[in-house]
Amino acid sequence: MLVESLVKETVELQGFRVLTVTKADDGLEAELAPDRRYAPRCGGCGRCSRYRDTRTARRFRHVPLWWIDVHLIYAPRRVICEHCGGIHVEALPWVSGKRQFTRALMVTLATWARVLTWQQVAALFHCSWSTVAAAVDEAAAYGLAHHDLSGVTHIGIDEISRKRGHVYVTNVYDLKSRRLLWSGEGRAKETLEGFFDWLGKERAEQLEGVCCDMWQPYIDVIKARASKAVLVFDKFHIVQHLTQAVDQVRRDEIREKGKDHKELMAKTRYLWLKNPWNLTDQQQTRLSELEHLNLKINRACLLKDTFREFWEYTRPG
Ligand SMILES: [Zn+2]
Repeated sequence: MLVESLVKETVELQGFRVLTVTKADDGLEAELAPDRRYAPRCGGCGRCSRYRDTRTARRFRHVPLWWIDVHLIYAPRRVICEHCGGIHVEALPWVSGKRQFTRALMVTLATWARVLTWQQVAALFHCSWSTVAAAVDEAAAYGLAHHDLSGVTHIGIDEISRKRGHVYVTNVYDLKSRRLLWSGEGRAKETLEGFFDWLGKERAEQLEGVCCDMWQPYIDVIKARASKAVLVFDKFHIVQHLTQAVDQVRRDEIREKGKDHKELMAKTRYLWLKNPWNLTDQQQTRLSELEHLNLKINRACLLKDTFREFWEYTRPG
């Protein structure tokens, strides 16, 4: 199979053809040309239009082949459009907007971003973090336009901080299909309300379960907009809250029982927080001694384990 054929397989090329593929210094270059059997399409409205002139060639980064960089080279035409009036650059089916990356490469980035961090994807594909972010946004927008929402019953809400916590993004996933449903800037009440506006009242009522962080603005919105759904909290936050609870009980205990107890309780934090099956023999003996003395803290630990088991049981997939 020729590389030309591979380019045709991976790029939407109707109205265009692959002229040549050559080896350049920085990888492979596939030169594209218009297919004269088709009239150029207007970039504004997508309809057939009249040729005016040709601009200088542009390079579009495509999906690497055997980890060799691939670029598409094409000189876009300008057209006169009768429908929207005036002069426009023609529509290029392999790229969206003014991007330098092909749609196929953007999809590739977004796909990898589901299993790797955005930073790792950026490093792997030698691109910027913001390109990966844009790829995820585009994939989400595509998903929004094409996704059938009738079967969505369980959703997960996730906040991601960008730029060291200065900018937040809220992502909503369909937990059954593990697909990103929606993405919005911010993590305020209005952000999540935007999601529910988009989802529609009828579909929100079909929701059976919502998994989210223990973030009060979101909890309020979920209770108001998806009243029938069971609210499940994210494991990390439950463990975090319970760990704080165990610590609080331990501190109360020390304060209540005085100095002798304080010595006994010193350096026991990890005894209480560790899973029982991970304790060494020595730690186990120590813990059972303490448990005799300290029913209250034991209960707090029990509660934590209960929540952890509950999560393992209920988590999606
Ligand atoms: Zn037009």
